[in-house]
Amino acid sequence: MEDTSIQNRRRKRVKVIKALIVFFFLVFITIPIACAIYLGCALYMTNNELMEMSSQYEAQLTITDDLQQRLYTEENERIAAEAELSEAAVSINLENVDTDTVEIEAGDEKPVREVYLTFDDGPSIYTEQILDILDEYGVKATFFVTGEAAEAFPERYQAIYDRGHTLAMHSYSHIYKDIYKDKDSFIKDFNRIRDYVKGITGEDPVIYRFPGGSSNTVSQTDMDELCEYLNAEGVKYFDWNVSSGDASRITLSSDRIVANCLAGINNHNESVVLMHDTSTKYTTVAALPTLLETLSAMEDVEVLPITADTVAVQHKELKEAE
Ligand SMILES: [Zn+2]
Repeated sequence: MEDTSIQNRRRKRVKVIKALIVFFFLVFITIPIACAIYLGCALYMTNNELMEMSSQYEAQLTITDDLQQRLYTEENERIAAEAELSEAAVSINLENVDTDTVEIEAGDEKPVREVYLTFDDGPSIYTEQILDILDEYGVKATFFVTGEAAEAFPERYQAIYDRGHTLAMHSYSHIYKDIYKDKDSFIKDFNRIRDYVKGITGEDPVIYRFPGGSSNTVSQTDMDELCEYLNAEGVKYFDWNVSSGDASRITLSSDRIVANCLAGINNHNESVVLMHDTSTKYTTVAALPTLLETLSAMEDVEVLPITADTVAVQHKELKEAE
């Protein structure tokens, strides 16, 4: 009897121990493993979601960048087009005004008509060719340069100066949006091109042409203020009263450019002729020999470079100081 009861107690103890082993196994091994598996899966899924979200975000960023780039390009194109229109409008208006028309009275000596050829936006791949043509006709001109080619081609600026032409300023960046944002931006850009030109010539340059002219309608800053600023700096700004038309987006034939120049020159005693020296204006280069040939055959015409003493042709005249 006693043996049976001892055996029973043992069995019970073994059962309890087994139950405890199972319990511990469940609590300390199975459940943590299950939890780990569950957490691992959850982590994997979250990771996947995160990766998908980040790739979507990156895609959106790229789209935003593209859009911004497109908007920026379109904005610049719009501003340039407006400036072109305003230049064209000014040229048309000026050509209709004939206060300066040459009047030759009987018995009078033929007056001397002054012609100032000006090349904007250079220097470029054509500068040297233009200089060679000008040399051929013994003519000096005025180059309103930007700083765009300064780093890569300083020799082009140097050549303009060394060969006796006027190295004049036309802003450093020529980006309307930046230059005309406010007066400080204008001054910053102006100082940059002034310092650069001074580095070439050794003297403070005193001739400037506003990108788009002083009467441009794209400036966000009052142009009177900028004109006054230049005046206070001892700098004379020059616009133009004859346009070659080569600023047009459609490339004009060299014959058309010559005809435009001569029509304007015939209308004025003092002609400041607007032309461009950029890598797309090959018809301007092609027009030069005929233009210079024709001008040299006109006995009453003198082709000169602009200097500080030249009477300024200005679309927007400086208001008298009160
Ligand atoms: Zn320009």
